[in-house]
Amino acid sequence: MRVNTSSHDLKIADQKHHLHPFTEHGSLGVDDRRVISKADGVWLWDTDGNRIMDGMAGLWCVNVGHGRQEIVEAVRAQMSELSYYNTFFKTTHPPVIELSEMLAGIAPDNMNMVFYAGSGSEANDTILRLVRTYWALKGQPSKKTVISRKNAYHGSTVAGASLGGMGAMHSQGGLPIPDIHHIDQPYWFGEGMMTGMSEDEFGLWAARELDRAIEKIGEENVAAFIAEPIQGAGGVIVPPATYWPEVRRILESRDILFISDEVICGFGRTGEWFGSGYYDMKPDLMAIAKGLTSGYLPMGGVLVSDEIAEVLHREGVEFYHGYTYSGHPACCAAAIANLTIIKREGLVERVRDHIGPYFQTRWKSLQEHPLVGEARMVGLFGSLELVPDENDLMKRFDNVGKVGTITRDHSFANGLVMRAVRDSLIISPPLTITEDEVDHLVATARKTLDDAWGSLR
Ligand code: PLP
Repeated sequence: MRVNTSSHDLKIADQKHHLHPFTEHGSLGVDDRRVISKADGVWLWDTDGNRIMDGMAGLWCVNVGHGRQEIVEAVRAQMSELSYYNTFFKTTHPPVIELSEMLAGIAPDNMNMVFYAGSGSEANDTILRLVRTYWALKGQPSKKTVISRKNAYHGSTVAGASLGGMGAMHSQGGLPIPDIHHIDQPYWFGEGMMTGMSEDEFGLWAARELDRAIEKIGEENVAAFIAEPIQGAGGVIVPPATYWPEVRRILESRDILFISDEVICGFGRTGEWFGSGYYDMKPDLMAIAKGLTSGYLPMGGVLVSDEIAEVLHREGVEFYHGYTYSGHPACCAAAIANLTIIKREGLVERVRDHIGPYFQTRWKSLQEHPLVGEARMVGLFGSLELVPDENDLMKRFDNVGKVGTITRDHSFANGLVMRAVRDSLIISPPLTITEDEVDHLVATARKTLDDAWGSLR
């Protein structure tokens, strides 16, 4: 921390030298910035002296809450013992071995191997190369196309952004790369209810988009289907109940791999260890990051099924892929300490049986507000869909995103971080949030809706 630097001077230096991710710099004034300098539990403090509730667990990642000295100590101890060594070629080290064993214990029974990366984006880059390599090694090199979904988020690298289905991202840098195919998403509130289908019918229709795409592309050309169990950055899109069972039926009848992107859904967010487990899906590969270390240090990875691992273990086979920081010892130490906390404190079960249901009931009460068309939540992540007319849920605001941003700014001013996606507000707090904190959060969200409602009149 720079000593004796005023909050304003920090913001000026930030404006001069810092290019922020996903930020429209042209409209970002010096004083629009918020300098976060301290965090503990679900709370953040900024350099202007404000205390703010972190309703997003950072970027959906601080699952065990901020300020856990146990993780800090584990990292410090690891760094003084072995701060860096790589895992290329024939070398390995104790923390990466311990973490791999731990992850194999948490993962579904058919997944016992881990490939490490530095982030969720790198995990998905790894996956794209891995699935194509797998099919080539199996003598089916034409199986290259990966089917994904519109409005999915799988990261910001070239492969991650191509796998993702965000039009704005595709418009920059010549994306998507070839052999990625995007099908419609199972977004009932945003797209389904306008079709005239019931929610269940729409779920089946959206699932069968996968089958139709496989038919069109040819099963002999399709490597895999990638999906987040619940789309996070796309707007916490909880699919209709019919969606995942139908996708599962289709996958079982087709010879393609299923990749579950667990970067947000993993490590307790849904009240299960993995979002695919919540929906009883059986992935061949899982991308993990975020809650793996609760964001204390950057780390991602890929959990690999025994069937795929067996092909990679054949004599003479080498996957020409890896990162300098694959299995970084300090990140492994952070992940081990973090997973130890999640297990010891029973955070996954807590979300499933206690704090999840508690929060969901209170969150859903916000649906009564005239600005809210739908309040949904699974586990500990949810969304409020804002609408101009509570009596006509098909109607949308003219200037998409404006009301969402205004309401998000009210929330910040009221001391609560929520995220705006189009005209919806997203919540995804640390899994350690208490009942009192949930009550505070929901009361602040209600005040925020009142403020936004008032400012729109
Ligand atoms: N996949 C999903 C589902 C994500 O939500 C994200 C990030 O938000 C990523 C991948 C990319 O992860 P990272 O930002 O660590 O590269």
